[in-house]
Amino acid sequence: MKLEGKEGSKNIDDRRGNRGGMSGRTKTAGGFGLGTLIIVIIVMLMGGDPSEYLGASSGTAAPSPQTSAPAQDLEQDTEEFQIVSKTLRDNEKIWGQLFPQLYNRQYKEPVLVVFEGQDRSACGFASAATGPFYCPADQKVYIDLQFADLLRQRFRAPGDFALAYVVAHEVAHHIQNQLGYSQQVSQVRQRGSESQANAASVRLELQADYLAGVWAHYADQYSDLLEDGDIREALVAASAIGDDAIQKQSQGYVVPDSFTHGTSEQRVKYFTAGYKSGDAKKETLDYFFSARDL
Ligand SMILES: [Zn+2]
Repeated sequence: MKLEGKEGSKNIDDRRGNRGGMSGRTKTAGGFGLGTLIIVIIVMLMGGDPSEYLGASSGTAAPSPQTSAPAQDLEQDTEEFQIVSKTLRDNEKIWGQLFPQLYNRQYKEPVLVVFEGQDRSACGFASAATGPFYCPADQKVYIDLQFADLLRQRFRAPGDFALAYVVAHEVAHHIQNQLGYSQQVSQVRQRGSESQANAASVRLELQADYLAGVWAHYADQYSDLLEDGDIREALVAASAIGDDAIQKQSQGYVVPDSFTHGTSEQRVKYFTAGYKSGDAKKETLDYFFSARDL
């Protein structure tokens, strides 16, 4: 990625160490059994919504923009933090334009919480070993920057754009929340069977990959952010965090009925489709919930 000199987002809530984010460091006592914790970590690693396992808080807090670090500080920050902040800013610019055009309404920017160690979201507990996730209850994205190390080491998906893809995927969950797709899936989760709930969850995740691809399409055209090889890095990451790849790695066999995010092939297919078309029209997005098979 061409990060140098790019603007960072004002919507970052930096809760790392004593860098003085708005809320400072939040300590959370982990009262969960090991089994729950492992499930939550796996869900989060795959970018899922852990609230269904934890019991989401019913309170909805509006996102509140935080004061951003001066640009000079950002340039001196870690590369991971710059990737997250600058990718978020680019998403704000692109969705801020697309949203009114496509859906005839303003885009509400999400807050992105950067934490280290452990933190608490309205969707429950987040810890060092967890991957990024979007919490619909407080409309915030949560990310521990150590996830970049996990991507590199455990998932063998190196590169700055692998992390950018993950950020764009989480932002996409915020878009889905505003467009009503997330609510649609929650209803299936409440009323349907487990396999119906999993199938709906796969559709939501693949749509998020598609939307991340749409962002990459415009970033490539207008933002001067992408370099050769970046899309390849996103595809490697999308493939590495497919359900089948993760199941094979963790249990040695694959159980399609339990998929909640889509196979590696599906994730690559829909990120690529979004990237090539740049088409985020409502009718196109509806396809993910109307098509018999994806
Ligand atoms: Zn996701």
